[in-house]
Amino acid sequence: MKEILFNKPQIVGKELSYINQAIQSGSTSGNHQFTKKCNLFFKQKYQFTQNLLTTSCTDALEMAALLLEIKEGDEIIIPSYTFSSTANAFILKGANIVFADSYPNNPNINADTIEALITPKTKAIVVVHYAGLACDMDAILSIAKKYNLLVIEDAAQAIDSYYNNKPLGSIGDFGALSFHQTKNIVCGEGGLLIVNNPNFTKRAEIIWEKGTNRASFIRGEIKKYEWVDVGASYLLSDVLAAYLYAQLEQVDQIQAKRKKIWNYYFNHLKELEQFNIQLPEVPTFASTNGALFYLVMNSMKERKALISYLKLHKINAVFHYQSLHKSPYYKNKHDGRPLPNADRFTDCLLRLPLYYDLSEEDQNYVIEKIFKFFKR
Ligand SMILES: *Cc1c(COP(=O)(O)O)cnc(C)c1O
Repeated sequence: MKEILFNKPQIVGKELSYINQAIQSGSTSGNHQFTKKCNLFFKQKYQFTQNLLTTSCTDALEMAALLLEIKEGDEIIIPSYTFSSTANAFILKGANIVFADSYPNNPNINADTIEALITPKTKAIVVVHYAGLACDMDAILSIAKKYNLLVIEDAAQAIDSYYNNKPLGSIGDFGALSFHQTKNIVCGEGGLLIVNNPNFTKRAEIIWEKGTNRASFIRGEIKKYEWVDVGASYLLSDVLAAYLYAQLEQVDQIQAKRKKIWNYYFNHLKELEQFNIQLPEVPTFASTNGALFYLVMNSMKERKALISYLKLHKINAVFHYQSLHKSPYYKNKHDGRPLPNADRFTDCLLRLPLYYDLSEEDQNYVIEKIFKFFKR
């Protein structure tokens, strides 16, 4: 049996030809033809009003932190069970992170715990749609409204996924997508800042363009462009935008395949519940987008044993996210509140191979070995 990879970025069509076109055109820096094509795609497909392609989702989040004008000591509420990038963007601007717990049966931020974490210093709530499954956005938006807080959606894993038919990333004041090689739609490294709150539209594109009004100049609105504000180099090269556009053109095909694989795991692994193994829970307001498939095991020991067993049969399964409140960087800065649900996912969550080119035969082999492990 050949090795079954954990992840493998798909190549679906015109990537190389578009990259070639971008290079031949000579316009290889940011905000050229392919950036514009991607922008139009996001407008038409998901009705995202302002789309700024960035070098990564991490950078899109950092742009949001800049736009929020975070000051030293401001507090940001973030789920502990997430990737470092979600918190880093705000830490870099001097914020204190107040970590929230997950639900007992769902790694997303537990909306019922947020209100108790709010203080006069709280500035924003950052939510993460883990595995592309929506957070409880109505509950979160109503808390934000009550306390006048901004909401940022870390939608890194959530392209083409919905909350009550609204595309994720379009609901908070800002949304951030990732096109890292491990996500559904890839361009190596890349991201998108979606600006939904019109109060930030003008400044967002200035910060994006190194503090200049070049975007306005490119649209022919002004005769020359100048340094007008702070900013940084957040633009994605048009060479990578070309790669991205080729993938976006095939988004329906990619998503259909990933969802098929996800559903196949879900339907065939349901019986693991007899061993007290938990499968992803999909709230009624959420859709699946096949971003990743996970099992929640009974213990860290059992997870370790299954990973080793699968490895022995050349199957690569992995775990992730050490809850950030216990990370080497933040454990001494955390306020000491226990976050037991985040800890449980840290210890017990296991991810299975899931990628566009995963064949049904290979998937059957993975499923068969998982059952063998439990029935030993
Ligand atoms: C992948 C990921 C990121 C980082 O995305 P990059 O594009 O690699 O910067 C941030 N948050 C979450 C939840 C992610 O899964």
